Amino acid sequence: MVAVAEVHRILDDYDHSSVSVATIGSHSALNIFKGAREEGFKTVCICKKGREKTYNRFGLVDDYIMIDDMNDTASEEVQEKLRELNSIVIPHGSFNAYIDQARMDEFRVPIMGNRTLLEVETSRVKQHDWMRSAGLKVPKIFESAKDIEELAFVKFPGAKGGKGYFVVDSEAAFKKKMKLMLKKNLITKEEAKNPYIQEYIIGVNAYPHYFHSPLRDETEFLGVDKRYESSVDGVFRIPVPEQIGQEISPTFSIVGNFPMVLRESLLDEIFDIGEKIVKESEKLAPPGLIGAFCLEAIIKEDLEIIAFEISSRIVAGCNALIGSSPYTYLMYNEPMYMGKRIAREIKEAVKEDKLKELVT
Ligand code: ATP
Repeated sequence: MVAVAEVHRILDDYDHSSVSVATIGSHSALNIFKGAREEGFKTVCICKKGREKTYNRFGLVDDYIMIDDMNDTASEEVQEKLRELNSIVIPHGSFNAYIDQARMDEFRVPIMGNRTLLEVETSRVKQHDWMRSAGLKVPKIFESAKDIEELAFVKFPGAKGGKGYFVVDSEAAFKKKMKLMLKKNLITKEEAKNPYIQEYIIGVNAYPHYFHSPLRDETEFLGVDKRYESSVDGVFRIPVPEQIGQEISPTFSIVGNFPMVLRESLLDEIFDIGEKIVKESEKLAPPGLIGAFCLEAIIKEDLEIIAFEISSRIVAGCNALIGSSPYTYLMYNEPMYMGKRIAREIKEAVKEDKLKELVT
């Protein structure tokens, strides 16, 4: 892992009067670029050839660093350009997908966020332990398919955006579904060796977004989204008589997100959960969470909130709230959203000469 002291030395060489905000052209880049522009920063897009078309349409990019392949994101050449442009890199879901641990260890550019927690996020087991130690309610884990004795949710390694995941209620059903998923090429043989089996939580999915400000020492709740997942959200459009006998195996590939508001009585707990996660992160990987982080949760009929995933960075659901959310509207006297909140923190840090508090 690149030492924080080294990142700080790199930052010392930056021209702090012309800091730019950089990210990979994917996932929530438009959100990040818009926020950066609104706060007066130049924007840098690390962009796979062909993808610039999307970003040109919105006119939010000042400098492109073109790459042939997403795996080149951490090449020496790209890093050099990023440093020349005094870039602070904002990690998002694609950043985590393309910069694996080995590459992260070679990535000598300041990242807004905690590198150790970005790594924790790549392990379901570590995420689960983090949430449980923080005092959150989490789903039960089944060590093996033999232990399945109630509705269980089967996932596969890596953040696959729900592709190929399925629900079963017994070992026999598990074996049958596994065969079907392999046959349909929804999972690979390699993936099939490592299923991660959780208790299936029945309830309403809600994905809250938070921002932890090291400068203000405060955890803000910025908004919450829900997801459209295919095919599970489409199955119920088929009349029941037609569903029967079809062998439909709903999967959970994410297609999009939509904004949500929660009943007001849940808000206190939503804030508490965010604060608990931050407190635990300080023990887990000092100085703890920096900036955006988000949870995936299911709210049960008794209003218990069960958390099943954590992201130590911006999530794509924040894109549903570009501009404002009901909660940022209540808290700020101006439009506010994740990309802008990130840039606002950088702006304040530049002003107070505290950029080192935001990067690792
Ligand atoms: P991403 O990284 O995009 O979040 P992922 O591959 O890590 O995706 P999950 O988010 O863990 O996958 O799961 C995908 C979807 O499956 C969730 O959005 C939710 O709808 C459903 N889901 C996940 N875990 C459970 C659970 N324990 N009980 C019920 N539904 C679940």
